[in-house]
Amino acid sequence: MFRLTPVVRITLALVLLTATLVLSADMLNLIPNPSLAMLEARKMVCESMAIFGTLSVEREDIEALQTTMQVFVHRNEDVLSATLRLSDGTVLARAGKLSSSHSGSKIDRSAVNLVSVPIFKDDQQWATVEMHYKPLYPKGIAGIWERPIVKLTAFFISASFFLYLFFMRKILQYLDPSSAIPARVKAALDTLAEGVVVLDHKERIVLANAAFAKKVGRSAESLMGVKASTLNWTLPNDSKPPEDYPWLKAMREGRPFTGFPLTLQTKNNGLLMFMVNSAPISEGKNKSRGVLATFDDVTEVEQKNEQLQKMLKVLKNSQNKIQSQNEKLKILATRDPLTRCLNRRSFFKIFETEFKRAKRYGHDLSCVMVDIDHFKSINDRHGHLAGDQVLQKVAKTLRSILRESDILCRYGGEEFCILLPHIGVENAVKASERFRVSVASITCSGIRITASFGVSSLKFEADTPQKLVDQADKALYVAKESGRNRVIQWGQTKDPPEDKAPNVIPYPAVAEMKTINSNHPHHEASV
Ligand code: GH3
Ligand code: MG
Ligand code: MG
Repeated sequence: MFRLTPVVRITLALVLLTATLVLSADMLNLIPNPSLAMLEARKMVCESMAIFGTLSVEREDIEALQTTMQVFVHRNEDVLSATLRLSDGTVLARAGKLSSSHSGSKIDRSAVNLVSVPIFKDDQQWATVEMHYKPLYPKGIAGIWERPIVKLTAFFISASFFLYLFFMRKILQYLDPSSAIPARVKAALDTLAEGVVVLDHKERIVLANAAFAKKVGRSAESLMGVKASTLNWTLPNDSKPPEDYPWLKAMREGRPFTGFPLTLQTKNNGLLMFMVNSAPISEGKNKSRGVLATFDDVTEVEQKNEQLQKMLKVLKNSQNKIQSQNEKLKILATRDPLTRCLNRRSFFKIFETEFKRAKRYGHDLSCVMVDIDHFKSINDRHGHLAGDQVLQKVAKTLRSILRESDILCRYGGEEFCILLPHIGVENAVKASERFRVSVASITCSGIRITASFGVSSLKFEADTPQKLVDQADKALYVAKESGRNRVIQWGQTKDPPEDKAPNVIPYPAVAEMKTINSNHPHHEASV
């Protein structure tokens, strides 16, 4: 239903008072009345006509009176008729027409339209001069509107309505709107550490508690009537003001909005960050009278949070550094720096595990010893650096052929040891043959390389990893002795050392094999 706001109602009451004052002033004749002034002027004209009538009657020149009256009526548009009437009612002279409203009988009292002036002789009234005028104002509504008092009153009513409305609004805005909130409520809100603000429906502040005023750096009084969005708000990490505000959203949508971050540039406290919660103050269904907004200063928390984030970043960086250092250390500790192959210590660690597992579950496990042929002469002829490059190239080639489960170790100077889990001796020989062919195809700065291979597997009943390596090493020795660039399997050798060859199968290519010395240099090589 349509309801007038309190401001409009007060304005209307003031307008009515003003209209009453105007009308009272008119009734008290404080406002000049043109009708009265006109009546006085017409009486004077009538008075003059009466004097002239008296003189004419005394001179018995009624004709002159008649003529004068006719000229007078003719020259004055407002005058309808002029009559000299004797006391007994007889008309002595007359000019003009009588209006329908005037019957022509004697007039007792003067009005602005009908003016009569008595003529006396020896204190006895013997005649009257009657003048009949056109009405001052037309008939009907138009006639009423023509009256100055009506115009004046209408002007006062309309002009004062707008003036009062404007002033009332301004005054209510700048008068203390917070007086709507009881003092004890204000005092209670002032005890809160959180900023509390009550806004009206036009988001003007009607209450700001002490905490909010202090944060903003203004007095609570100076904040009264200020539109909340006109304060220096910005979005966090942004210099632009936000497009929307939580209190406006709450008012618009009629529901609370919580945890809205806003930063405020203040005079005394610099840039502050608030977590804003807004709840609408509703008036009936779906209508908001205003908003209650709370401002939780999270500047310090945010700063601490930011510092913490920075610290965490630094920590993360150093953790990453430590991790990569550890990895580097691990590589340094477990791998040979030149070829990136496992060193002997870490190789044997893995070997132990694989050996035990193979024994426990009855898996196959093969070991291949590799030694580059005539490596010393490569060093001698092309230099140590070229020798290093050859070692790297051989390691790279072997690595490229090996499976992921195979384990490559730089066993000594130019010796490599390969562990092949789950691979039996026949397949290990085949694989070694592939290794041999690949190594033989390498050319490094024009240098051709070959290598010799010794293969052994669990099949030959080595009871320790070292014994398996020794078997492969001895097979390698046979390969060297029998001409190099070849693969020799342990057990294919004709005359192995007595203590280390359980199943000797004669091998035609190594008929002239020498007895393997237990102090063979391969066993002493280390990385
Ligand atoms: P064989 O065919 O009998 O194996 O002959 P070889 O010359 O390869 O064997 P020998 O044991 O006589 O020589 C190995 C050489 O390898 C001796 C050593 O100077 C060289 N050597 C060992 N480690 C490295 C290394 O890291 N870099 C280089 N460039 N040479 C190395
Ligand atoms: Mg060697
Ligand atoms: Mg060699």
